[in-house]
Amino acid sequence: MSLLAGLELGGTKCTCILGSGPEDIRAREVVPTTQPEETLERIERVLEGWRVEHGPLAALGVASFGPLDLQPGSPTYGHIAATVKSGWSHTELLGRLTRRFGVPVGFNTDVNAAALAEGRWGCARGLENFVYITVGTGVGAGLIVAGRPALGFSHSELGHVRVIRMPGDSWAGNCPFHGDCVEGLASGPAISARAGAPAERLPANHLVWESVAFALGQLLHILVLATAPCKIILGGGVMTARPHLFVRLRENLHASLNGYIEAPSDLASYIVPPALGTLAGPAGALALAADALPGI
Ligand code: ZN
Repeated sequence: MSLLAGLELGGTKCTCILGSGPEDIRAREVVPTTQPEETLERIERVLEGWRVEHGPLAALGVASFGPLDLQPGSPTYGHIAATVKSGWSHTELLGRLTRRFGVPVGFNTDVNAAALAEGRWGCARGLENFVYITVGTGVGAGLIVAGRPALGFSHSELGHVRVIRMPGDSWAGNCPFHGDCVEGLASGPAISARAGAPAERLPANHLVWESVAFALGQLLHILVLATAPCKIILGGGVMTARPHLFVRLRENLHASLNGYIEAPSDLASYIVPPALGTLAGPAGALALAADALPGI
């Protein structure tokens, strides 16, 4: 089996992984995300070390926070686009790693990659239409339509859709672009900005969760009506730490749709955590590497 390396670039840490899939992981190393040059050099040293220790890599997969330029014809294809993450705007990833390692490099967003991993090895196996949503430092959605991540002039950015607000809730939100988009209402930083304490320290009955679950329920409403996904998977730090949100999300989606569309009636198996758990992201990078192999 081909030896693959995956790289999940996150806002606070980068996970490097070596193997062929979630059942076959040979090595794993975490590097803090600091400035691009420093971070990428450390990652490259990890990969070089693995090449010496484990043998040649067949392909590399890069699953990165976005926004990314995913248009093969673009002069900045494979770069991070303008981002609020300090120092990282316009950072070249794909070209740099291709030149350095001389192997095919798969490249996509972290959420698209996690979705592909759940489709290949997790709870969306056999499905052509589904979505993976992360709720953590940001909110993002890897939307799989007809077996592929939705891609137009750019990848989808569903975490930034504007939604109907919970009645009586007028908090301005904290997205620097939109204020009260879903990310501005339901991301980890939004929750702690609003509640005055980190999301993981708030009790399950804190009022902020009503607003968070309402905003996420609206996002699910939009997704159900847009592409009728056959499975909705929610991961990320906030969902992992707060599994009680799943119950509220199912209730909110049911109430919001109000009988208009026949969403799958068993919402407990329709709206679910990732089967791969926190491995969904790094495994996604391996899925991108596998897809970059010639002949696939
Ligand atoms: Zn926004």
